[in-house]
Amino acid sequence: MIDKQHLINRFLSYVVIDTTSDPENSAFPSTEKQWVLAKMLEKELIKIGMQEVELDENCYLMATLPSNISENVPIIGFISHIDTSPDFSGTNVNPQIIENYQGNDIIINEAENIILSPNYFEDLQEYIGQTIITTDGTTLLGADDKAGITEIVTAMEYLMQHPEIKHGKIRICFTPDEEVGKGAHLFDVEKFGADWAYTMDGSQIGELEYENFNAASAVVTIKGKMVHPGYAKGKMINSLLLATDFINALPTLEIPGKTEGYEGFFHLHDVTGSVEETKLEFIIRDHDFDQFEERKYLLQKIAFDMNEQFQNTVVLVDIKNQYFNMKKMITPVMHIVDIAEEVMIDLGIQPIIKPIRGGTDGSQLSFKGLPCPNIFAGGHNFHGRYEYVPVESMIKATEVIIGIAQKVAEKYG
Ligand SMILES: [Zn+2]
Repeated sequence: MIDKQHLINRFLSYVVIDTTSDPENSAFPSTEKQWVLAKMLEKELIKIGMQEVELDENCYLMATLPSNISENVPIIGFISHIDTSPDFSGTNVNPQIIENYQGNDIIINEAENIILSPNYFEDLQEYIGQTIITTDGTTLLGADDKAGITEIVTAMEYLMQHPEIKHGKIRICFTPDEEVGKGAHLFDVEKFGADWAYTMDGSQIGELEYENFNAASAVVTIKGKMVHPGYAKGKMINSLLLATDFINALPTLEIPGKTEGYEGFFHLHDVTGSVEETKLEFIIRDHDFDQFEERKYLLQKIAFDMNEQFQNTVVLVDIKNQYFNMKKMITPVMHIVDIAEEVMIDLGIQPIIKPIRGGTDGSQLSFKGLPCPNIFAGGHNFHGRYEYVPVESMIKATEVIIGIAQKVAEKYG
């Protein structure tokens, strides 16, 4: 069905291009080099016959696969990101291809003795007999999310070459700067014009996600009073010690290291302080909106109680919402998740539906009016030297895209 070597060649042509984004740069896109891949993809989309191919001034590349049926069916979209994570080098990616993997250790870098071992990365056992693409141990691979781009382009090409497969209008978009949290920022939802979309940005085969955290940041500022320590009785207020009281007033088990699944947390990630002033920086995460609000309230309550005790404002809490759980926007249109799930089952893929313990561009897009669950792109161990992708998972993801296009036409045609 899908030409395996053709798909591998396409993927390799993308991953060798350095597209690392930069969280420190407020320019958009955050790195000029993302344009290189964006322009290359623009040419490729025109060459394979896509319509309305448009690379805008912010580095968003959109294109259309026109409908091949007369009925009006919903317009659906597929989205991936062109940048790779700034957490690890994306320069001079040198992919290694292991055919017919036998479940053994893969020496990805002999000189530095870097080994991708199924003893540590157990998921590798799932891919025995398959073709696995790894790094050479010095960079990330960039399957996140160039696997997603490969799958979307390959699916569009396949649909054009197989007009017997009926589908409505399909829109695709490749975005910059997802890894620095800005992939949805300048996304023109109106111009995209889809009724709903899917990000092809999940990990292992079968992943299908439509729930993510509600997220906020909190800065707690504690004011102290410095007096000569020898003469401080009844006078000194040490903000460092009050900071300890504040931290101890939080539930000790509700931290990242002790939570999973739907369990939310407070995460203290930065402390700076002196006797005079201490700042505590937290992030707050919860899938449940009411519990999320309760977490924010708890920080305010602890501050209130401490201020009462001192008859003075010694603790200030500044909370900023960051993003919200897209479940709220997806639940009213749950059929868009059901369609993806049905397609996976038809293709013999076991759907893995689980809440994301983080955010996605899809959550921001969902709140901008484009409901957008996330589908697997196939890779593992994102953002580091152990990243790898089984080619067969990329082929399955391509088939999922084709299957969704076809199923929407069947259901609504
Ligand atoms: Zn990604």
